[in-house]
Amino acid sequence: MSTSSSIPEPAAVPEPAAVPEPVQEPAPGSTPVERPRGTVDGGDPSQYVRERSTDGRRDVSYPPAPEPLGIPVYDNHTHLEIEDGETGLSLDEQLERALAVGVHGVVQAGGDVDSSRWSAWAAATHPRVLAAVAIAQIRSFEAHIALAKKHGIAMQIHDRDAHDAVLETLERVGAPEKTVFHCFSGDAEMARIAADRGYYLSFAGNVTFKNAQNLRDALAVTPLERILVETDAPFLTPAPYRGRPNAPYLIPVTLRFLAAERGMDADELGAQIAANTVEVYGEF
Ligand SMILES: [Zn+2]
Repeated sequence: MSTSSSIPEPAAVPEPAAVPEPVQEPAPGSTPVERPRGTVDGGDPSQYVRERSTDGRRDVSYPPAPEPLGIPVYDNHTHLEIEDGETGLSLDEQLERALAVGVHGVVQAGGDVDSSRWSAWAAATHPRVLAAVAIAQIRSFEAHIALAKKHGIAMQIHDRDAHDAVLETLERVGAPEKTVFHCFSGDAEMARIAADRGYYLSFAGNVTFKNAQNLRDALAVTPLERILVETDAPFLTPAPYRGRPNAPYLIPVTLRFLAAERGMDADELGAQIAANTVEVYGEF
């Protein structure tokens, strides 16, 4: 039996920060707990699922698989617990499709307690999944920074409209060693500042959108060793599939777009992005 809840569109999903958690290791000093079994009302976490509404969307079929990449890369941020389309894809199907086109791993981001537990379950079940948890409170940002620094883990930030405030806070309290702006949404100036400070910029499918010149300007000035790629699936499906369900197997579409923008070979950029991903999260 599936437990589902309807979820809002991404604009309404606050994601100020996500801290990838090493799921095998309890926090120092805490009581080791069993891997979560009760995701929802004591249920089996493998059965947990959220559903994205298909209301008002013309085409909710999954886009065709792109040509496989020559060099494997990773999806730096995705939500595989959210089913989309007429028939959702299971975690196994998602990973199989991704692997078939050269996407060798995903960072699965939970957005609340239940989806974070699902993320931890997914990571414990599949070696190619790394779990991240996001706590949806802007006030928790400084606590997240402190947590990431204390445990020496990477921090993903979803900064939508608070560029100055986020940069100021990171500067004031000191950023974690590995700080990632997931679904980077700033402009060239912000990209320069972030890259100068050693942060990573993760580009999602919206970089392909007609009205997103600011993102392409940002991409143009970002040093290659600071670039990551993600889907934020099932949202932000890259052109020409905008509005249809997104999934990690569509990473090649966005990667090839990034490479074309930079006047590079996709495999060359892919190799750099894969190395950047390992630099941030380690091998997975
Ligand atoms: Zn997200």
